[in-house]
Amino acid sequence: MARRIGLNFHGIGSPARDLEEGEAPYWLSEAQFTEILDRVAAAHDPQAFVLTFDDGNLSDYDIALPALVERGLSARFFVLTGRLDQPGSLGRDHISALLDAGMRVGSHGIAHVGWTGLDRDALNRELGQSRSVLQDICGLPITEVGIPFGLYNARVLRALRRNGYTVAFSSDTGQMNNKSFLRARTSLRGDMNSAQFDDILASRMPPAKQLRRMLGMTKKRLLPLT
Ligand SMILES: [Zn+2]
Repeated sequence: MARRIGLNFHGIGSPARDLEEGEAPYWLSEAQFTEILDRVAAAHDPQAFVLTFDDGNLSDYDIALPALVERGLSARFFVLTGRLDQPGSLGRDHISALLDAGMRVGSHGIAHVGWTGLDRDALNRELGQSRSVLQDICGLPITEVGIPFGLYNARVLRALRRNGYTVAFSSDTGQMNNKSFLRARTSLRGDMNSAQFDDILASRMPPAKQLRRMLGMTKKRLLPLT
């Protein structure tokens, strides 16, 4: 079965660094996070869920890792290499510990910028340099990215392939095709209630929203045409 539900997390608990503008709603309380993990672990098929963490917050290590291990779940962590070893963010040793616990690590770029707005050189640097730094830390090929802010277009997707990536996780919501290059996820937010978490875990989406999503993804994959 190639259909999965991608759940994307950011920070959990209290941030230990200054947040970016608009970032706060993407932080979950520890109670919200464990509620979602408990539902995944209790699901008929926990493998139907693909769990990812963007931004490389220290809560990935402090809170998410033990909670995942306790429930026998695994996840992917997309790290910003520009924040490595900064207060409130993962350091090199944390990344090694995530790998040792059976988690996967990928790139979220260097500086947390939207990739669609970068020129060719800057885009190659974001994708290539972050990849090589992570490969040095992990001693493994890094082939997956979490796309910052879900911003991509045809040029970004081409640059990802050119820089050696084989999988790109977006934020397009809805179901994920676990065999395709581009894999949709839904970001969980702290201002969502339990009923909204239920809809996301059940991958329930009104038909009008499904259509908008399909058209939006097609447009982003094809544009710009030049
Ligand atoms: Zn991010």
